[in-house]
Amino acid sequence: MPTTIPPKVRRILLIDDDRLQQRLMQGLVQNFRGGAFELDGAQTYAEGLKKLLSGKYAVCLLDYRLDAQDGLALLREARIAGGETPVIILTADDSEEVDIAAMEAGAVDYLVKATINPRLLERSIRYALKLGETLAQLRQLAQRDELTRLLNRREFSRILNEEWDRSVRFKRPFALVMVDIDHFKKINDTHGHQVGDEVLRHVASLLAGQVRTVDRVARYGGEEFALIMIETDGKNAAEHIKRLGVLLAETPCFVESKNLTVEVTLSAGVATSIGDATSATDLVGVADKALYAAKKGGRNRIVMADGTVIPFK
Ligand code: GH3
Ligand code: MG
Ligand code: MG
Repeated sequence: MPTTIPPKVRRILLIDDDRLQQRLMQGLVQNFRGGAFELDGAQTYAEGLKKLLSGKYAVCLLDYRLDAQDGLALLREARIAGGETPVIILTADDSEEVDIAAMEAGAVDYLVKATINPRLLERSIRYALKLGETLAQLRQLAQRDELTRLLNRREFSRILNEEWDRSVRFKRPFALVMVDIDHFKKINDTHGHQVGDEVLRHVASLLAGQVRTVDRVARYGGEEFALIMIETDGKNAAEHIKRLGVLLAETPCFVESKNLTVEVTLSAGVATSIGDATSATDLVGVADKALYAAKKGGRNRIVMADGTVIPFK
């Protein structure tokens, strides 16, 4: 029996306090010719921002005058909070100022309400979608490591600086953990670089799978990884890393193409933003020093900034 794959329904968010506008748009979206779209509405600034940041929408239509508030302020706030959904501004009047202000705030297009028809709206949405996809691909290329798909070092440094500032401002700690695979060179030398690559991917996916969504994992360099653990002190971070090390010991890397099982151990250095360092750069230095001590002490262990040793076993 032939199976038909249902077309992917893409969700559009309309942030507009005007109920009539909501109904009008609903009618337009239902009459789109290409592909299935579903319109969801938000009528206040707060509800709109929350929905926009949920990441559930392919594109957002945002009213320029949102009740007594400014739609562009909402857009700026969403951008600062990391919202990446493409936004089209809806305005009552066609003016160059609005056009420029919308673009400056990060909108991909703007439409004048009175001139909107189904074809114009559908076309604008399609362009916004395409642009959104292209930007997402560019972000992936600029921010991610190709082999492991973890954050690359540059993006990690950017986030680290941001978290450092936040930590200082709100007096909330975060932990930085530097992790390095033990005797990795030997794995390459014994089994070849392809197996080495597999091991890197294995460790990376294990690290990424074990952290909370608020935490960040990066490939810092060759076989070295860095983790930022938000709202976590050194002790909790070490406990977490220890569980990870135990898990890695239980799940060695299996290389299917060679029917080979490679056992890997890690060394880790842990430092906390509050108490262990005076700047983001210093924090990396302190965690690095602890990692070096873990290597020197015999590997397969965690060393804290104060020198405390925690073996994985
Ligand atoms: P230690 O326990 O002291 O960390 O020793 P190690 O052998 O793990 O560390 P070392 O720094 O001597 O060697 C790291 C090796 O990692 C050398 C380099 O060729 C290899 N490497 C770096 N990037 C990659 C990569 O992308 N793929 C593979 N397969 N190997 C890599
Ligand atoms: Mg190593
Ligand atoms: Mg290394």
